Amino acid sequence: MCGILGFFGRGDVSHDVINGLTALQHRGQDAAGAVTFDSNRFKLKKGLGLVREVFGQLDVTDYEGFCGLGHVRYATQGALDAAEAQPFTLNYPFGIAMVHNGNVTNFNDLKSRLFSDQHRLLETSSDLELILYTLTSELEKENLSRTNPEAIFRAVQATQLAIEGAYCTITILANLGLLVFADPWGIRPLVMGRKFSDHGLVYGFASESSCFDFLGYETVRDLKAGEAVFIDSDMQLHSSICERRKESFCVFEYIYFAREDSIMNGRLVAGERVQMGRQLAKTFQESALEPDIIIDVPASAYFFASGLAEKLNVPYRRGLAKNNHVGRSFISPNQSDRENMVRQKLNPIRDIIKDKKIAVVDDSIVRGTTSKHLVRLLREKGAREVYVVSASPPIKFPCIYGIDMSIRREIIAANYNVHDIGRYIEADAIIYQKLDDLKEMYSDCSSCYACFDGCYPTGITLEAIEAIEADRLQSKR
Ligand code: 5GP
Ligand code: MG
Repeated sequence: MCGILGFFGRGDVSHDVINGLTALQHRGQDAAGAVTFDSNRFKLKKGLGLVREVFGQLDVTDYEGFCGLGHVRYATQGALDAAEAQPFTLNYPFGIAMVHNGNVTNFNDLKSRLFSDQHRLLETSSDLELILYTLTSELEKENLSRTNPEAIFRAVQATQLAIEGAYCTITILANLGLLVFADPWGIRPLVMGRKFSDHGLVYGFASESSCFDFLGYETVRDLKAGEAVFIDSDMQLHSSICERRKESFCVFEYIYFAREDSIMNGRLVAGERVQMGRQLAKTFQESALEPDIIIDVPASAYFFASGLAEKLNVPYRRGLAKNNHVGRSFISPNQSDRENMVRQKLNPIRDIIKDKKIAVVDDSIVRGTTSKHLVRLLREKGAREVYVVSASPPIKFPCIYGIDMSIRREIIAANYNVHDIGRYIEADAIIYQKLDDLKEMYSDCSSCYACFDGCYPTGITLEAIEAIEADRLQSKR
């Protein structure tokens, strides 16, 4: 998963681009990048690391522009290499700059088609390059000497038909405007915002609304499945549903990915998590477990734990201290590194834990590494019993849409049943959210639950899943 944003106005937007990226940092810490456009040229800056590492020493006045894009990367497709950082730009056949969030699933097909039809070679292993070339060649077929939204939307539709997978993209079309579009299923989030500055109206697009809050933008609405929005150089907004299929928004955004203060599809993420926590109480009561305290695994599980504690009428405690200065345990390619990092990252607070029956809530169990080590650590600090609670249902299938759980043999619930997982992590009990309870929360809309039930909205063959796994393994080396 990644975070993207784009701004378009009359005055300088470079500060909004760079400051906005810090509010999307949780969506990707591997690389960051931005591009602005000032009617003359693209000003591009990207590199590996956090937003402040890439942009900290930057003189923003060198990056002035009335239009700009930003990206934070969390690598799922492609190597961890500065050349893979976004945005990407092209100057031929016209100036175009692009960012995307998501994952293309027919990567290899598209790659050979671009080679055989257009003799194009890819310079990176990033799926953005494929979207960029596909859109560019579709735009080239249209007459773009002047602004023509219908022609642009036709090119978007052709691109949507060629690209399979999940994506939201933001594109600068030099001297024409800003173009935004989503895949036909609307799997990944994107919100539109606006503000009135000294230079008049500014439009913004971002993966999450929390990014608009501190920049002073009003959140207008979410992009719809298959929709394209084009802001022309007169600041006129055009929109069209280009290619639409059954809406399938990713519920893992609510569970883990999005920041708690973001509003997605009209739902506040924190509120969704509290409700998921409340629902877990039912399963708890059925199991006749009676924890003395509920604790959370920081930083993603607080709202689940508070909902569960409220419903069970059991005290919530912050029982784990977190070191925020350790790298990311989840993403590290090496299992023993991951285990060490969990130990370095989380430390139980003895007086809170000792002699207690503890329910420890996490957002999800992917490989089981975090849970297994936590159970051990909690016992070492004197816990009497440890119940592991997962706010998400068992993750049984790889995510092919951009969340880094794409290799079946690494996903514990793809290989073991709940009972065996409980034994593996050495918990006294293990409780998962029930998929039906989760679906109940979203019964008024259609969503993607593929990582839980294997129903991939875009359809996918086993060979394609295997190709994604192979790519992922390759890039982790
Ligand atoms: P496990 O240790 O079971 O492999 O991973 C579970 C932990 O990883 C949970 O604490 C959860 O917060 C975190 N997690 C779940 N999904 C993701 C993800 O896509 N990216 C990252 N960085 N962490 C994740
Ligand atoms: Mg976590």
